[in-house]
Amino acid sequence: MSAHASLAEVLTGADVLRAASTDRSGWPATDPGGVVRPRDVADIQSLLAWAHRTATPVIARGAGSGLAAGAVGVEGAIVLDLSSLDRILHLDQDEQLARVEPGVITADLDAAASVHRLMYAPDPGSVGISTIGGNIATNAGGLRGAKYGVTRDHVLALDVVLADGTLIRVGRDTIKGVTGYDLVGLFTGSEGTLGVIVGATVRLIPRPARTATAAAYFAGIGAAARAVTAITRSGARPAVLEIIDGPTLAAIDDLEGTSLRERGDALLVIQTDGFGAEEELDVVTAAIAPLVSLLETATDAAASASLLFARRRALPALEAIGRPLIEDIAVPRRRLAEAVERIAGIAREEEVRIFVFGHAGDGNLHPIIVTERGAPDDPVPAPALRAADRIFALALELGGTITAEHGVGRLKRLWAQRELGPDVHALQLRLKELFDPRGILNPGSSL
Ligand SMILES: Cc1cc2nc3c(=O)[nH]c(=O)nc-3n(C[C@H](O)[C@H](O)[C@H](O)COP(=O)(O)OP(=O)(O)OC[C@H]3O[C@@H](n4cnc5c(N)ncnc54)[C@H](O)[C@@H]3O)c2cc1C
Repeated sequence: MSAHASLAEVLTGADVLRAASTDRSGWPATDPGGVVRPRDVADIQSLLAWAHRTATPVIARGAGSGLAAGAVGVEGAIVLDLSSLDRILHLDQDEQLARVEPGVITADLDAAASVHRLMYAPDPGSVGISTIGGNIATNAGGLRGAKYGVTRDHVLALDVVLADGTLIRVGRDTIKGVTGYDLVGLFTGSEGTLGVIVGATVRLIPRPARTATAAAYFAGIGAAARAVTAITRSGARPAVLEIIDGPTLAAIDDLEGTSLRERGDALLVIQTDGFGAEEELDVVTAAIAPLVSLLETATDAAASASLLFARRRALPALEAIGRPLIEDIAVPRRRLAEAVERIAGIAREEEVRIFVFGHAGDGNLHPIIVTERGAPDDPVPAPALRAADRIFALALELGGTITAEHGVGRLKRLWAQRELGPDVHALQLRLKELFDPRGILNPGSSL
């Protein structure tokens, strides 16, 4: 690896390799050949030029919080750890944008924006640990997605190092602009397979002057899902509209010492924001009144923050009780109730435990199949795999998608091909070939 002599750090210690070997998907760990922590963009260019020449695989990695086995070890590959490139380079209050390095933690950018009464809107459940680079590479969604959309809606420009080491800039630092093809859109969600994101200009928006939050409990998740349709029809547009089923509430209670489960069999966490936040929440609560069994309004910021915190703990709570197989489907919102009822049927028929929570305002459900925790390399039990397969099929049958925000990674490749169909899949392979003719960028992932 003589070409690495100019690089800041090439690490091959067992602990470092192990830490870079997998993500939060539960994908079996494989140690990569080495981990590179670049000092700057020039280091990344040198690494990729060398990797391109020698056909060495490179796996870009942010925080490793991914749930699709994207940033996982591949034998002989170099993991490019971008977490130390973590500066907010410029925050422009008048233009309402920020230029950042890829390793900035999502919550840190939002906190920096809040000083100027601005907000970085995308807020994945992992907001406190994930990086902006990882968010862009996966086109992450989040709790505020019901109103503010996904990461793509907030990315204006990207600095990208291509597979051969060339540095390009796509997009622009203006709020509007349409010159050329939308390469920002192409790189966003490309999961490290088309280039390495080394910088980004992201949009900031005015921080809402007010928020109003409610916890609506229901006798079952079907009723909660029907309430989502009622809210959509009401004309209100909550910023947060999260669904959590009873078994997940119980798991959160066990982890956090809360008492959510005793209040109902399903919960919608609803937050409206903006100058008319309280009035809009009134519209929402009136719309769902016939379906709700208990309604609590969070009257102060601490109560509302603790509700959102509880929602963010849903996945860690399930990780604490077993081995989760994480799904990430989206269906048209009017079919949410049908989706949750049929997922319950799949759980009964396959005799597996399936917990459901998700970003209901986006039609995005995370059915989590939890099996006994065995050794990390134990295969996933056949009934769990069958259930997962049936949930993917259900999503497509209902006119939805197999992954709404976590990405394809290694976990969902075959299903992605099925969703895309042969013509679109072939077109995507040709794009990959164009950007990465030697196939060094995150091989085995996404396509
Ligand atoms: C508790 C918990 C809650 C979560 N909640 C959400 C949620 O609400 N919404 C959601 O969308 N996701 C969620 N996730 C998943 C995860 O946090 C997101 O996918 C996140 O965007 C990954 O960021 P990361 O920095 O950890 O990326 P990593 O896991 O390190 O990488 C993810 C993918 O991006 C690629 N990549 C990373 N950085 C770059 C770069 N600079 N250039 C090119 N490619 C790169 C990697 O190769 C990999 O394919 C959650 C995860 C956890 C553990």
